[in-house]
Amino acid sequence: MTTYRIGVVECDGIGPEIVRATLRVLEAATQEGPTLELVHLPAGLAAIRRDGHALPQATIDGLSRCHGWIMGPHDSLSYPEEARLERNPSGELRRRFDLYANIRPARTYPGVPSLAGSADMVVVRENTEGFYADRNMFQGSGEYMPTPDLALTVGVFTRTGARRIADAAFRLARSRRRQVAIVHKQNVFRLAYGLFLEECHAVAANYPDVKAEDYIVDAMTAHLLRRPGHFDVILTTNMFGDILSDMTAELTGSLGMAGSINAGDRHAMAQAAHGSAPDIAGQGIANPSGMILSTALLMRWLADRHEDPLARRAGERMEAAVASALEAGVRTRDLGGSAGTVDFTAAVAERAGRAS
Ligand code: NAD
Repeated sequence: MTTYRIGVVECDGIGPEIVRATLRVLEAATQEGPTLELVHLPAGLAAIRRDGHALPQATIDGLSRCHGWIMGPHDSLSYPEEARLERNPSGELRRRFDLYANIRPARTYPGVPSLAGSADMVVVRENTEGFYADRNMFQGSGEYMPTPDLALTVGVFTRTGARRIADAAFRLARSRRRQVAIVHKQNVFRLAYGLFLEECHAVAANYPDVKAEDYIVDAMTAHLLRRPGHFDVILTTNMFGDILSDMTAELTGSLGMAGSINAGDRHAMAQAAHGSAPDIAGQGIANPSGMILSTALLMRWLADRHEDPLARRAGERMEAAVASALEAGVRTRDLGGSAGTVDFTAAVAERAGRAS
C-alpha cells in the first residue's frame, strides 16, 4: 500500500477549525488505506509572529517533500505592512510549485437550498498568470505607479499557459458530460485573449468527443444565472476564474461548500475557494465542507497520479459523506441549518467511516 506524505497548514481565521475537521473526516475515510503521514507546518499570522514571514522557508521546504498538502485560508488583509508586501502564502505556493490548474467544482445537493435549481459544474482556472500582478513577473510586481494619480498593471498570457490549462479542462470534461465553455474577453483584449482563445480551440481539436463553446465573460455571468444547469466544465483565465467560481459556489449553495484544488504536474494543494472568514473565525460555526471536498479532490489527484484505487475510494467516501449528511438535514448556518462545525464534522466523519 502506498504511503503519502501530506502537508497540513492550518493558516488563519477559520483555517484551524476547518482543517482539523477535515483531518477527522480524512482519517475516517482512509481506514482501509491509503496510509497517510501528516506533516504539520506553520504559515500565516502565527508564522509572522514567530519568523517574520507568512510563509517561512522551512514550510516551503517541508511542503516540497510532500506528495500534496492541505492548506487553510490566509487572512493576508490583516497582515502587518511588511508581510503584505510579500506575495500571500497561497499565491506564493501556486507560483513556486507551478500549480497551474485550479479546479473548482460547484454542484447542488439534495437538502441544500440553492438559487440554481439543479447544477453540476467545474470551473477550471488558469492559476499562474493573467492579471495577477504579484505572480506575473520574474522579480517585483506587475503593478506600478508612475505618478500618484496613475496606476498601471501588466497581464501575462502565454501559449504554454493557455495550452496546459485547456488540456486539463478537456481531459476533465471526458470524465464528465463532455462539454467545455471557454470564457474570455477577446472582444476587448484582442491579443491576450485572442491568444488564449486560439490555444483553447487548438486543444479542443484534440478532443473531438468534447463539445467546445465560447462565451464573453460579461455575458457568461448572465448565462450562469439564467441556466446554470447547462454548464459542465468552465475553462478560463486567472481573474475571471476567481470571480466566476465564487459565483458558481453561491449559486449552487454557499461559498462554504466550495472545494478547490491547485494542481501542477508534481504537487497539488487542497485549499477551499473561500477566504479566512474573519467575521466568524473562532465561533465554531464555519462550514468545513469546502475544505473536506478540496481534500477529497486531493485524494482523487493522488489516485490518478499513482494509479491508486484506495486513494480514489477515500476521495469518493469523503464526497459521499458530505452529500449524505446534508441530505439527512445536518447543515451549518451558512446553509440555513443550526449545526456547528464540530457536530457537522461528526456527522460527516461517521458516514465517511462506514464500510460500504
Ligand atoms: P471570505 O471568503 O473569507 O468570506 C466571505 C463571506 O463568506 C463571509 O461572510 C464569510 O463568513 C463567509 N464564509 C467564507 N467561508 C465560509 C465557511 N467555510 N463557512 C461559512 N461561511 C463562510 O472573504 P473575505 O472576507 O473577503 O476575505 C477574508 C480574508 O481571506 C482576506 O484577508 C482575504 O485576503 C483572504 N482570502 C484568502 C483566500 C485564500 O486563502 N485562498 C481566498 C480568498 C480570500
